Amino acid sequence: MPELPEVETTRRGIAPHLVGQRVSRVIVRDRRLRWPIPEDLDVRLSGQKIVAVERRAKYLLIQAEVGTLISHLGMSGNLRLVDAGLPPLKHEHVDIELESGLALRYTDPRRFGAMLWSLDPLNHELLARLGPEPLTDVFDGLRLFELSRSRAMAVKPFIMDNAIVVGVGNIYATEALFAAGIDPRRAAGSVSKARYIKLAIEIKRILAAAIERGGTTLRDFIGGDGQPGYFQQELFAYGRGEQPCKVCGTTLRDVKLGQRASAYCPKCQK
Ligand SMILES: [Zn+2]
Repeated sequence: MPELPEVETTRRGIAPHLVGQRVSRVIVRDRRLRWPIPEDLDVRLSGQKIVAVERRAKYLLIQAEVGTLISHLGMSGNLRLVDAGLPPLKHEHVDIELESGLALRYTDPRRFGAMLWSLDPLNHELLARLGPEPLTDVFDGLRLFELSRSRAMAVKPFIMDNAIVVGVGNIYATEALFAAGIDPRRAAGSVSKARYIKLAIEIKRILAAAIERGGTTLRDFIGGDGQPGYFQQELFAYGRGEQPCKVCGTTLRDVKLGQRASAYCPKCQK
């Protein structure tokens, strides 16, 4: 599933080909994403110049002169630029053709993604109640500490709650808790201020490193057969249940928290 670093890498990859370009037409081959693609998307967007490509949480905001296309990649979506005449393959549901002769092509085999239109995207119901971006100064350990007081829920689902901070998916929550030495099962309200400060720093460090690594794939967003290379970083805990801890050798345990697999080291994480 594309996580925040992949979405940010997508934004950086597609933006230079979109900004300043006028849309010549929009072709929708299959509207049935998580919500139906608006019937009038072509009418709304065609003829308009794209002025910016922004990101909020895992939503891409493709801003036209009037109105914004809100796109989410869902479980399996991707966006890339192709020659507008390139015949579509299966699952390539949308083309946004540009005057440059390129088209922004949306592919999504599982169709859990979204393409919506809004005149006021930050107040759209999907975006209005989101917490702060993890890589901004608004998000820090103090915020985690203050919002967690008297919360009995486990710390891992707490930091994955989009109202607390956006974009901390399962991989990054698992890895940041390992790096901060915090047991993912611990009650959010029982983690000290000092440990939350450490945890927020680790969340920022791990997300920034993944975005940095994604930078090497930016050229994959144009031409070729698509599938921009998602990037792996060295994982200490995620997906490593029953394997030895890379720090102390203890066998990692695997628990389910909020229906998500959560590996941790019983010795390194308290
Ligand atoms: Zn360990």
